[in-house]
Amino acid sequence: STPAQANIGVIGLAVMGSNLARNLARHGHTVAVFNRTHARTLAHLESHRAEGAFVGAETLEEFVAALVRPRRVVIMVQAGPGTDAVIDQLAPLLEEGDIIVDGGNAHFEDTRRREARLREVGLHFVGTGISGGEVGALEGPSIMPGGSPESYAALGPILESIAAQVDGEPCCAHLGPDGAGHFVKMVHNGIEYADMQFIAEAYDVLTAAGLTAPEAADVFREWNTGELDSFLIEITAEVLDQVDAATGRPLVELIVDAAEQKGTGLWTVQTALELGVPVSTIAESVFARSASGDRAVREAARGVLRGPDRELPAVERRQLVDDVRDALWSSKVVAYAQGLEQIRKASDEYHWGVDIATVARLWRGGCIIRARLLKQISDEYAVGRLATLLVAPSIRSGLAERQGAWRRVVAAATTAGVPVPGFSSALAYYDTVRAERLPAALVQGLRDNFGAHTYGRVDRAGAFHTLWSSDR
Ligand code: NAP
Repeated sequence: STPAQANIGVIGLAVMGSNLARNLARHGHTVAVFNRTHARTLAHLESHRAEGAFVGAETLEEFVAALVRPRRVVIMVQAGPGTDAVIDQLAPLLEEGDIIVDGGNAHFEDTRRREARLREVGLHFVGTGISGGEVGALEGPSIMPGGSPESYAALGPILESIAAQVDGEPCCAHLGPDGAGHFVKMVHNGIEYADMQFIAEAYDVLTAAGLTAPEAADVFREWNTGELDSFLIEITAEVLDQVDAATGRPLVELIVDAAEQKGTGLWTVQTALELGVPVSTIAESVFARSASGDRAVREAARGVLRGPDRELPAVERRQLVDDVRDALWSSKVVAYAQGLEQIRKASDEYHWGVDIATVARLWRGGCIIRARLLKQISDEYAVGRLATLLVAPSIRSGLAERQGAWRRVVAAATTAGVPVPGFSSALAYYDTVRAERLPAALVQGLRDNFGAHTYGRVDRAGAFHTLWSSDR
C-alpha cells in the first residue's frame, strides 16, 4: 500500500470538490481525492494531474491510508443525506484527533448535531462555509470555518493558503465553534438575496425611466467604479449587455421573470424569525422571488388590478440615476446591518463569540457579496461593539446624505406603480429604528384590550392592565 503522504483529502469531485482539490494542489499541497463513483476520480486525475500532486483513491480505506495525521478530510458532496452518508462511512476509519471538514451548504443545526456526535468519538468536525461558486473554489473562495479552535490550528493554514487574499490578508478565519461557520455562510447567502433584489429594483426603475438594457448596463458599469464597486454590480453590467444571438434583443428581456431559490434565503429568514431579529429586507427578497414565481396569482391579477402604468415623474436622467444609486447603497447598508445583527444574536444565543469585524473582513473577497463597502463595514465594527451598523459614524453620515434620494426613489416608484419591496422595506426599517416613538404603543393597548396581556408605561415601572370597556 502507498505510504501516507497527502496532507489533505477531498471527498466528492463534482465541480466544487474538484476545483477545491485543484486549488489545494496548485498551492503545493498533496491532495488525496475520492469520489463515490470512481469514474469521476479517474476523470479528475486525467484532466488535472499536471496541476499538482494528487493521490487518487478507489476506496475510502485507500483514501484514509494516504493521509498524514492528523488526517484532514474535506467533504464536498450533496448537502444533507449525502453528507451524512459520507460521514457514516468515513468516521469509523479515522482516529482520534482527525478532522472532518464539511464544505457543503449545510444547515447550521445539522452541523451542530454532526459536530456533537463526532466529538464524542474524538473526531473534530468543522462545518465550513465556502463562497465564490465554481470559480471561487478554484481561484480563491471566501472560507468561513467553524469547529474547535484546536482543529483550526491544524487546518487553518491550509485553508488560508487557498482562500481569496485582500490587502495581503486571507479571506478565511476561525469564526467560532460548531455551527458558527455555516451560520455565517447562511446569512451571507441571505444578504446575497437582498443585494440581488436591490439591483433588480434599480434596473426596474431605470427601465421605467426609459433606459434600455445596454444603457442600464452603462449605469451599472459606472456605479462599479465608485462606492457600489462589487462583484454583483460588475456582473449585472455583463448580464444586461448580453445580446441574444437568435433575436438580436437584450437577453434579459427574453429570460422568464420568475426567480428560483435553493433554500439558504429561506433558512436565513426562518432562523431570524426564531431569534427575533428583523431581517425584513432579506425576507422581502425571498418573498419577492416567491411572488415572481407565483404564476397563478400573477396571471389572475395581470391587467385586472388597476394602477398607474409605470410613468415616473419627469426628472432629469442624471438626477434619477444618482438617486437610484443612493437608494441602492442605503438599502444595501440596511441589509448588511440586519444580517450582521442576526449573526450577533445567534452568536450570543449559541455562545460562539463570533467577531463581526472578522465576518465582514472575510466577505471582502472571494465570495458572491464581495464589495468595497465591506472594508468600511469591517473597519467600523473593528472600532467597537455597535448596536447596529446603521449608527456607525461613516455609515450614519452616508445614510444622512442619501436618505433624501432614497425617499424620492421609493416615492416615485410607488406613485408610478413600480414595485420596490426591497428599497421600501429597507427605508421603513431605517425610519422604524430612528423613530422617537412607534405605534407599537397602540398594539400593546389592543393586546391588553382583547387579551389582558398587560402593557408597560412610560412614566411608571410595572405591568398594567386596564378595564377598557364597562359593558364587557
Ligand atoms: P453536488 O451536485 O451538490 O453533489 C454531487 C457530489 O456529491 C458528487 O461527487 C456525488 O458523488 C456526491 N454524492 C451525492 N450523494 C452522495 C452519497 N450519498 N455518498 C457519497 N457521495 C455522494 O456538487 P457541487 O455542486 O460540487 O456541490 C458540492 C457541495 O458544495 C454542495 O453541498 C453544495 O451545496 C456546496 N456548494 C456549491 C456551490 C456551487 O456554486 N455549486 C457553492 C458553494 C457551496 P457521485 O459522483 O458518486 O454521484
